[in-house]
Amino acid sequence: MHITQLVVGPLGTNCYLVREEGGNKLLIIDPGGEPQAILEALAETGGTVSGIVCTHGHPDHTGALRQVAVATGAPVHIHPADTAMLRRTWPEFLVNEAALGPGMKVREIRENDTVTAGKMALRVLHTPGHTPGGICLSAEEVAFTGDTLFAGGVGRADLAEGDPAALEQSLARLARELSPITLVYPGHGEATIMTQELASNPWLAPGSAEAE
Ligand SMILES: [Zn+2]
Ligand SMILES: [Zn+2]
Repeated sequence: MHITQLVVGPLGTNCYLVREEGGNKLLIIDPGGEPQAILEALAETGGTVSGIVCTHGHPDHTGALRQVAVATGAPVHIHPADTAMLRRTWPEFLVNEAALGPGMKVREIRENDTVTAGKMALRVLHTPGHTPGGICLSAEEVAFTGDTLFAGGVGRADLAEGDPAALEQSLARLARELSPITLVYPGHGEATIMTQELASNPWLAPGSAEAE
């Protein structure tokens, strides 16, 4: 697969264009803002969008969802536990329009579903904690981890939608299930590799969750 990373919006959200190997179908993960920049990058790839995936429903990951979905006609994929977040406004973040608009297609995705683009398939891992419907997507030795796992850190679980105990379990699961050579593409910040996180991310190191 070919991965193009764009950093968009005021919170520096990573939006990924993920294109299949040897074909022109692609997925857009987390169109968080700057729709024009995303659509230009998309045009440069020459690819067609099979789907848009939201790792979760927070507005910094969905700020350009409406424009990108309308421009591409591609369906929006999100876990059902976060769908309501696409239907509400976020006045506290100055977001006064819901991410979902009329005519946009929504496909709810759950644990172990796959999201495909041509020959490429990403598997859904339901990883609640930062939000109830947070997901990671994995394929081959690559994982997109949204705001669940960052290089050297993890997403907040103290926001309204958060659940610290669930986040702890989700992180333990990633530590168990992702191979150490997995390249990790998070929702914010630099990409990393699982072996590095297992060695130095305090949230993934064995026993760290019980340390405090
Ligand atoms: Zn978030
Ligand atoms: Zn975020």
